[in-house]
Amino acid sequence: MSTVPGWDGPPPLAVVVDLDDTLYPQAAYLAAAAAAVGTAAGAAGLDGDAVHAALVAELAAGSDAGGTIDRALLAAGVPAGALARLVPPLVAAFTACAPERLDPYPGVREALAALAGAVPVGCLTDGNPAIQAAKLAATGLGPLLTAVLVTDTLGGRAARKPAPQGLLALAARLGVPADRVLVIGDRPGKDVAVAAAVGARAIRVRQGEYAAAPDVPAPWAATGSFPEAAELALAVAARAVAV
Ligand SMILES: [Mg+2]
Repeated sequence: MSTVPGWDGPPPLAVVVDLDDTLYPQAAYLAAAAAAVGTAAGAAGLDGDAVHAALVAELAAGSDAGGTIDRALLAAGVPAGALARLVPPLVAAFTACAPERLDPYPGVREALAALAGAVPVGCLTDGNPAIQAAKLAATGLGPLLTAVLVTDTLGGRAARKPAPQGLLALAARLGVPADRVLVIGDRPGKDVAVAAAVGARAIRVRQGEYAAAPDVPAPWAATGSFPEAAELALAVAARAVAV
């Protein structure tokens, strides 16, 4: 990455990163959680392999739709009338899945450390707070972050990105105005859009489940990896030090 896109106006004072598919490949977590559900389904007297396979297919069709376990059970031939009894323990198995280790994408740890040496770095992530905390712990990246905010703690799914309240609250915790934050994330409709919602800018990282999604809304810059994004962020944040 040799050229830095133009940056007019005051430089960023903090960086906010997304978690899933930005710092580590979410597919690794979903595979572990689907396996845990398959095991629990087997323990409940179902065909665990069939439930596992159906859940993998449902997650591949979209991992944040909600109701994935219900649909997987139906696809595996479970009668609709049995869902009310079977779904809660399987959802619990999914939620309780806490992989010991989730490897970050290559170079993420070093890039995050470099950012954290220059500006406050926060993490803004959507999802079940217990699950998101377990994922972050498994990456080992938590100590490099100044603050972490799971949007669901502010009001459930309604508070998820691109709703602005999560980024507003996290910027306050980082001690900077929200429009002076630079967001780095993989999803245009969430990470780039939440930045726009508070008058901030974003770098999109083209990787993970949404790697092929169109640039809508348009980011300030797009890169193929988190380390490249961090390098850009450092380049523009350094202007704040120099000015
Ligand atoms: Mg993401």
